[in-house]
This record gives sequence, structure tokens and C-alpha cells, in this order.
Amino acid sequence: MNLNKAVRLDEDNIAIRRITERCIDCGRCKTICENLVGIKYDYNKTKEAICINCGQCILNCPVGALVPKYDYKKVLDYLHDTNKTVTISIAPAVRTSIGEGFGLEAGTFLEKQLVGSLKEAGFDYVFDVTFGADMTVVEEATELIERLKTKKNLPQFTSCCPAWVKYLEIFHENLRKNLSTTKSPIGILSSLLNTYFLKIKELDKKDVINVVVVPCTAKKFEIKRTEMGMDIAITTSELIMLLKESNIDINKSKEENFDEIFSKGSGSGVIFGSSGGVLEATLRCADYLLTGKENNVFLDFKEIRSSDKIKEANVKVGNYHLKVAAISGMPSFETILPKLNDYDFIEVMNCPNGCVGGGGQTLVPIAKQQGINLKRSEGLYQDDKMSKIKISYKNPDVINIYKTYLDYPGSPKALKLLHTNFKDRSNILKEKSF
Ligand code: SF4
Ligand code: SF4
Ligand code: SF4
Repeated sequence: MNLNKAVRLDEDNIAIRRITERCIDCGRCKTICENLVGIKYDYNKTKEAICINCGQCILNCPVGALVPKYDYKKVLDYLHDTNKTVTISIAPAVRTSIGEGFGLEAGTFLEKQLVGSLKEAGFDYVFDVTFGADMTVVEEATELIERLKTKKNLPQFTSCCPAWVKYLEIFHENLRKNLSTTKSPIGILSSLLNTYFLKIKELDKKDVINVVVVPCTAKKFEIKRTEMGMDIAITTSELIMLLKESNIDINKSKEENFDEIFSKGSGSGVIFGSSGGVLEATLRCADYLLTGKENNVFLDFKEIRSSDKIKEANVKVGNYHLKVAAISGMPSFETILPKLNDYDFIEVMNCPNGCVGGGGQTLVPIAKQQGINLKRSEGLYQDDKMSKIKISYKNPDVINIYKTYLDYPGSPKALKLLHTNFKDRSNILKEKSF
């Protein structure tokens, strides 16, 4: 079948695949890509399709012709290999959407049963990406304070959304210096798994496979971009398939706790999954690092918790008066671009309402999608409300790893292991092969 209206996807796209026989060439994916994601370009001018791997087209295909590139079968193979130690780490937004795959209401918060189901499936260690999120917050808050002191490369942009980072690298290469160099939560966790964890467990990397579950197809791209990345990234929808193929019903799984070392996250780490969550968490931590006190404003930061695509606030962090924003979607970023110098710190996430609306989340029929992301976000904010520890730098596991391994936030060792750099990808716009 000739596809005329469908979005162009290359065979070697690392995250997304089209099952051509199912496609009815309705053009919905192209409309979503152009209008929701904001990727507009002349197909005849570029050698490669320009895709930031976000998976929003998957969620909006009416006939299921678009799917993530499945990697969960590889995970099943490793689980059956007795010579391999297999770790799995769970991202925050997965725990309020996995239940939908097992007949539960959207937003149902499942953590302990999820850990139990993964133990049942044969994973040797189950870790919490929320710990990695706390580490990202501490390093990113430290970086923000440094930039405010030196007045360099402001506004600071968050960099934990790989779709946004790739968009910036392609379309706004001149702003690359504004990206926070702090690795994303899974980037940090994988660096620590490949160094600290191997060392204390006396394991050899060749015998260990590190898997991460994310609500995000773009993470399949992110794990390949740096050294010490996770070995395999699977989406929430792939995890549901893995559990079902292993005859595991999460409703019947025992409740278990995450494994020690990377087991505890603060409320800040959990709200990462919602638009505005990274901003709120980083400001909580920056203010705490500067004042030594918990500031109530940042414990329930209402101005940043709405479902608006552009959320702004003026805040006092330590003695700094800052203008901050949380942006959802690339078109919203383009809207604020002319007044970029007004801001000090900007969170940018690609997907509607943040990672709760990610392209790797549980598939829900289009007619039933209305309001579902907000329910998932509410589940995360509720968990933050119930958390005893709300500031990342107060997480005892975080304090311990700085004390025993990394020295202090922003130390030379932390900069080496927990920070990264980005690429100029603007060439993709210039290559003409037709
Ligand atoms: S939305 Fe699905 S069916 Fe429609 S053109 Fe795209 S891939 Fe084909
Ligand atoms: S994954 Fe995102 S950027 Fe790529 S084609 Fe789909 S909607 Fe567009
Ligand atoms: S917003 Fe979250 S789910 Fe969506 S592309 Fe970015 S990191 Fe992935």
C-alpha cells in the first residue's frame, strides 16, 4: 500500500515501528506530529525522517499500526539465562498507569505489587528510578545555583526529556549550552549501576544486564547516546506484555519492597513524572541547599501544577528572585522563545502533562483518553503528599552515596559520572539526497 498521508518513519528508527499492513493511511499520525509535537518539515528535503522518538503518534493511531520497537523479548531471553544477573529499574510514571493494563482504574498507584510481580518474573534486583530522579534533582539544583552565581548560560533548561533534547539539538543548536548537563534519572542510575553497584556486589559487567521500564519511547534513543547507559529500555506497554506472557497477573502478585541501595525516593523524585514536577523538585532542593530550610511554597507549588501547556511563576530561591516556567510540548517552547531572556530556569517536557502522557504508556482507546493524564498526575502528587521525605537532598540513600562514594554534589567525581554533554544534530536539516 502506498502511504501518502502517514508520517514518514525510517526503518532504522530506534523507538517506533509501523505495521504497514494495518495502516489505513488516515494521516492522523502526521497531524499529531506536526501540530502536537511540532515537527514540521518538507519530507523531500531531508535524507532522514526527522523524528524525536516521542511516540505520540503511537497513542493516536486509531488502528494500532504504530508500536514501540519491542525489546521485551530480549529481556525474557536474559531472564531465562542463568548466567546473567538481571536488574530492572522502574520510572515514577509507570506505577500510576501499569494497573490500566490489568483492568484497574487510571491513576491507581501500584508500587509494592509491581515489585512483587517483577520478582515473580525472575528479576534479580528491582530498583526505583525515583532514587535516580532524586540524584538528578540534587545535581541539577547545584548546577542552577552555580549558574545563578556566575550568571552564565541562563535560563537553565532541564534535560531529562530525550525528545526535547533531540529537538533542541536539531532545531536550536545555538541554545545547547543552556541545557543542564545533569544526566536524566535513568542516566544517573545506569552510571551508578555500572560502577557503585558492581563494586559492592563484586559483579562483572559482562554478567549483568540492566533493564529500565519507562513511560517513554524516546528513552530507547537516550540509552544509546552515552557510555554507561542502561542495556535495554522497555515501555510500560511492553512490561504489560512481558508479565502477561509470563502468566503473571499484577492483581494477584505479592507486595514486595524495592531492593536496597537504590530503593528509596523522596516525593520530589515521584512528581518527576508530571509536567512541572522537575521544576518543583529542583526549586525545593535549590532553596534547601541555599537556606537549610524546607520552604512550604515549593512543597505544593500550585502555580506549576495546572494542566496548562505554559506555566510560569516568580519565586524567591535563597536570595535569588527567579522567573521560572514549565513548558509542555515543543510548540509551546517556540511560543516563549522570543522572551527567553526573561527566564532563569525552564522545564521542558515533550508529552502532554509530562511523562504521564508519554508515548510508551499503557495504550488506551482514543475515545477514552480525555482526562486520563490528569488522573495519573494526581496519583503522583498524592504519593508526594504522603511521603515523609519531600526534598531530594534529604533522602538518606542520596546522603549515603555522596558520603561514601561521590563526595558532595557537583564534586569532580559527580561531574564525571553524573553529567553528560550534547550533540549538534542540526546537520540533519541540511542534508539533501533527493
Ligand atoms: S495514524 Fe496509524 S493508520 Fe493512520 S496513517 Fe498513521 S500509522 Fe496509518
Ligand atoms: S515519534 Fe514523535 S516525532 Fe516521531 S513521528 Fe511519532 S509523533 Fe513524530
Ligand atoms: S515527556 Fe517524558 S515520556 Fe515524553 S518524551 Fe519526554 S521523557 Fe519521554
